[in-house]
Amino acid sequence: MSEIPLSHPRYASLLTREKVVLGVDEGITGLPGLVAQGRGEAFDYFLGERTTLPGDDAERAAVAMLLLAERPVLSVNGNVAALVPQGMVDLANKIGAPLEVNIFYRTEERVKNIADLLRRSGAKTVYGEDPDAHVPGLDHERAKACRGGVYDADVVLVPLEDGDRCEALVNMGKKVITVDLNPLSRTAKTATVTIVDNAVRALPNMVELVDEMIGLSREELEAVLEGYENEAVLRRSVALMIEHLRG
Ligand code: ATP
Ligand code: MG
Repeated sequence: MSEIPLSHPRYASLLTREKVVLGVDEGITGLPGLVAQGRGEAFDYFLGERTTLPGDDAERAAVAMLLLAERPVLSVNGNVAALVPQGMVDLANKIGAPLEVNIFYRTEERVKNIADLLRRSGAKTVYGEDPDAHVPGLDHERAKACRGGVYDADVVLVPLEDGDRCEALVNMGKKVITVDLNPLSRTAKTATVTIVDNAVRALPNMVELVDEMIGLSREELEAVLEGYENEAVLRRSVALMIEHLRG
């Protein structure tokens, strides 16, 4: 990681890329995760590689939704585990939510490696190694879920999720929060709250927002959500990308 000079204008982006490459080396991220990372980088470039106002609005709405949830669960895949394991664990611990490992191309070894990494990072409850339920509408391997975890959750955070699984979770009646740099993806359009921001910026931001918002009353948290419109946030994100490209 140290070979990128600090002075490089795109240091943060290159460091993020190396984390995913390292994730592949360590048996945490699948090879297709590299392709997903590349797609995310392109959209982040359009966005100006910063957290935007609509991104911040979505992060606030997401935190309000998580704080209001009865059974919030945070889902972790191979890219998320490589990029922000500590951010996911910190958020889970602050809101008292379990984590669940769910990867696109499932191998038991990778699931275990990710669960171990989360536990080493301080996670209290990690589901995913012994699935005992299925999300309806997905093929067998990708449908695997855990009771007490994603299967029973009322609110799930699924960063960098695939469109099919996002839709299947919404169809189960869950509120779905995603982090996706592509505001045009099926996931972005299907989720209840879409955070168009890089996961490496979004998660630490959300951890800080929990500290800021944890003292709010139910009514105040509900007011944050009432003012939130996901489609408007997606439109604003696309508009910012166009503006940034024109400028
Ligand atoms: P969909 O299935 O939703 O239509 P897709 O098939 O294009 O999307 P997937 O590979 O299923 O994409 O999901 C990965 C998504 O995560 C992509 O939209 C990509 O832009 C986004 N992404 C990749 N890296 C990051 C990152 N570091 N932070 C936030 N989003 C990211
Ligand atoms: Mg997809």
